[in-house]
Amino acid sequence: MWPRGIVEFVRGAADLIFPNACLLCDAPQAGAELFRHGFCSKCRHVVTADPAERCPKCAATVGPHTDLSGGCPACRKRGFVFDTAVRLSVYEGVLRAGILRTKGSGGEPVAEMLGRTFAEVRSAELRALNTTVVVPVPLHWRRRWTRGYNQAGAIAREIASAVGVSVRPDWVVRTRPTEQHTQPSASAREENVRGVFRVGRHASFAGSAVLVVDDVMTTGSTVAEVARVVRAAGATRVAVAVLARA
Ligand SMILES: [Zn+2]
Ligand SMILES: [Zn+2]
Repeated sequence: MWPRGIVEFVRGAADLIFPNACLLCDAPQAGAELFRHGFCSKCRHVVTADPAERCPKCAATVGPHTDLSGGCPACRKRGFVFDTAVRLSVYEGVLRAGILRTKGSGGEPVAEMLGRTFAEVRSAELRALNTTVVVPVPLHWRRRWTRGYNQAGAIAREIASAVGVSVRPDWVVRTRPTEQHTQPSASAREENVRGVFRVGRHASFAGSAVLVVDDVMTTGSTVAEVARVVRAAGATRVAVAVLARA
């Protein structure tokens, strides 16, 4: 049994670090519950449960008897240049709501907590990639300026610190803003992101194993374009990590 004073002190400290409510559903929480995660146990359970079968190459949800040699039928056609993709879960429900929160004001702690949870829950998969550098999908500077931060950058920081490698947010640069989620088809999206990224001035990708991090992967066009750019710059392996796969 902990002395009452200590328990109260710890609770008080937790309240200072986290607001006294779940970052995803706003349900009021005791300090101890939020001390590690910032999420209530219900939200944490929903966000970390990923019961669906997924493609080892593109992390898309697949049916039980799908032929997964060299990817699922959908991504075999696309010829993605990344080797594999890891996801926390599917883009729906609480996780989708949480990701939308990361884009609003006060979204950064939500992105950090989702990133930390991702790194914890998928620790074995992420470590097995033997990444040498973590690179977030960059926002165009104008969008980063209006949002105040890059949500993919916050997620990437958490993953990089959990696997013990450095994160290089300036190694890939977005040269023009793109309209997000307005192109319905994969080919239209591919067209939309072609040539949008370039390698940053201080980047050194030669011989590296890159982990490209983003919040959501829908058609895969964006992460595939970043993968193409870093491969062209000398990366020997490229993997992708996304919080949610649509
Ligand atoms: Zn909650
Ligand atoms: Zn696939």
